[in-house]
Amino acid sequence: MITEDRAVYRAASNENLFGVSAQVTTSLQRALANIYRYPDPGATLLREAIAAKLHITPDEVMVGSGSAELISLLIRVFCRPFLESAVLSVAPTYPLYQAEAEALGVQYTVAPLNSSFHFDIDSLLAKVTPQTRLCFISNPNNPTGTCLTQAQLVRLLHELPPQVILVLDEAYIEFAAAPDIADALPLLEQRPNLVVLRTFSKAYGLASLRVGYMLASRELLRQVALVKQPYTVNQLAQVAAQTALQDEDFLHQTLQATAAGKAHLQELLDFVGVQWWPSEGNFVLADAGTPAQPIVAQLLQQGVLVRETSDAHAFRITIGPKDHQDYLYRQLQTILAPEAVWEHPALAQILRTGYTLAQGNAAASEEALHQLASVASSTGSPEERIALAFARAFHAKLAADENVYAGNLYSSTFGAMDMISAFGVLIRQTPLVTFGHLFSNLAILEATANSPEIHILDLGIGAGLQWLHLLEMLASRAGGAPKVRITGVDIPAAEGAPESRLIETGERLQQHAAQLGINFSYTYLAGRLEDVYLQDLYFAPSETLVANAAFTLHHLPDQLLGQPDQRDRVLQQLKQLQPKIFTLTEPDSEHNNLHLVPRLRESLRHYYTVFDVLDTVLPPQLPERQVIEQEFFGREIINVISCEGTARVERHERNAAWQRRLTRTGFSPFALTMLPLQLVDYLQLHENFTLVENGAGYSLCWKGTPVVAATAWVSATSL
Ligand SMILES: *Cc1c(COP(=O)(O)O)cnc(C)c1O
Repeated sequence: MITEDRAVYRAASNENLFGVSAQVTTSLQRALANIYRYPDPGATLLREAIAAKLHITPDEVMVGSGSAELISLLIRVFCRPFLESAVLSVAPTYPLYQAEAEALGVQYTVAPLNSSFHFDIDSLLAKVTPQTRLCFISNPNNPTGTCLTQAQLVRLLHELPPQVILVLDEAYIEFAAAPDIADALPLLEQRPNLVVLRTFSKAYGLASLRVGYMLASRELLRQVALVKQPYTVNQLAQVAAQTALQDEDFLHQTLQATAAGKAHLQELLDFVGVQWWPSEGNFVLADAGTPAQPIVAQLLQQGVLVRETSDAHAFRITIGPKDHQDYLYRQLQTILAPEAVWEHPALAQILRTGYTLAQGNAAASEEALHQLASVASSTGSPEERIALAFARAFHAKLAADENVYAGNLYSSTFGAMDMISAFGVLIRQTPLVTFGHLFSNLAILEATANSPEIHILDLGIGAGLQWLHLLEMLASRAGGAPKVRITGVDIPAAEGAPESRLIETGERLQQHAAQLGINFSYTYLAGRLEDVYLQDLYFAPSETLVANAAFTLHHLPDQLLGQPDQRDRVLQQLKQLQPKIFTLTEPDSEHNNLHLVPRLRESLRHYYTVFDVLDTVLPPQLPERQVIEQEFFGREIINVISCEGTARVERHERNAAWQRRLTRTGFSPFALTMLPLQLVDYLQLHENFTLVENGAGYSLCWKGTPVVAATAWVSATSL
């Protein structure tokens, strides 16, 4: 094992890997003679130098032992523990805000970034409460590299209540090149509740010496000074920082080397099929379409330290010298080689074919696809079966006849009866669909235990099978069955009577309710969810409103495809209806944000897990199994792999991303008392399945890989 010191490439801490100014080392040598003295507690010369450079006065500057000390001091001075005050920030961001707040017993609240990791000011403002004292914004944001724009800053300053101090942590500001990035300095003078933090640890290369500084009004700094220890910034650090500030050539070289290094790293990540997000810092956030932890561990073994983040799939890489980055690239090539990701030759060939296709060499792609076809079979092992599904997807991609597979996958002319019978098998013999139904039904039962009237809004009702079981449970509810109304929303059928399916669903439910003796009514709305305005629906005040979305919200386009973000819009409208509970079931996989190669890795792991489940629970020659594999999931695979833009409708997001989205739009996890054992009992799960608590519900895992996540939410304001 390579220890930190022997690392080949220290890409985990965003240090300046281009070193430190030679002038700094010289000045340190000179200063060594005086280390018997206490440092200057006021860091006078350094503060004067900073002030002169920024055209402010020295009493608007405070120096600390890294900005870390200043973050801690701000919380100590302005917050009170327990529920009395709160610190607000975004997610994902620099973990120290949360750590310091919680260490001091202060509440920590987050407004997640949007799915491209940009700041969402509406959601940030919506999280402000009378308890909020500090709002930390890392700008550019660590670990995403995205930045706050000037317009967003102005809006924040305008709309944050005066008791909230806005702290812009500009640890990476020297690297930022975006023309619209917020410039807080000129606003400092007029805003008593604005604070800017900067550091010598990053661009100036002094991480080890611990010097950061804070710019704010005299009055605010006076309050902080009351709790600050005098000697936290030693004299060597003060001298080094002063010299570093003067050596503009070195800073300039650092910025140039970092910009060039960033462009090179992004190119290398493209070559190796790892997604990255544009970054204004000296680091890049990366996602290979596989869990980050094994990649981070394997890189560590080879002497490359990269940083895991709060997101299980994303890791952060600090920009470094070219040879370091080239070394990282070679390691990633080895780690992500088809045969390293999947030992099974058919699965490896799927990846190999996708990698070749992504390189755009038509002849090599044909050849790879030919080889893939030779190991594919609709009746063989799960690996051969999934090879067939991916071969069809690559074929569609090569032929570029995207439209064949775009749009509503279930409106195809493929034998409708076969599909219905296959869907029946999927429902009855596997838990892949019923797990979500059951979780949601138990959660709804719990949330509506005392309600005499329940109104269920189902955002993608389909055949409505989920409700047959709920009606049964409600019929035997202690204290008697409630009155039930269901509003079903779904896409109109492509041919025949467009609303026929919705009407049939209503008849099926009506009949079942009648048999159970439940007072039942049904309404429907035929339309794409994009075009539906939930506010137009009617809900009686006496009804307890319940909302449900099972395998349906991922069809909505988010902000990647245009404004407004339809997923957020629907959730925001739903939130305004204040349902007693909102249950959401989605596959746990990312087919929305990722580019082709990482998306291929992600989808192969997801669908292979599904095919492995099918292989375990269904007989090999069952005709319905082939329909489930090649038509039901196979069409999804074709759409995921061969379609881009609006043609791709199977835009699944990972559970973590859905949870960020729900939190951002103002939902909180519903506090369930339901036990996983209840679910296990009903579902009679095969031993390879496990149920894992996911923060807002449960994830159904197969051999440890999450397949489906079911969660329950409540509108935060109705708590
Ligand atoms: C690295 C970093 C800091 C700072 O560090 P110090 O070394 O304590 O000055 C502060 N904020 C963010 C966002 C960082 O990434």
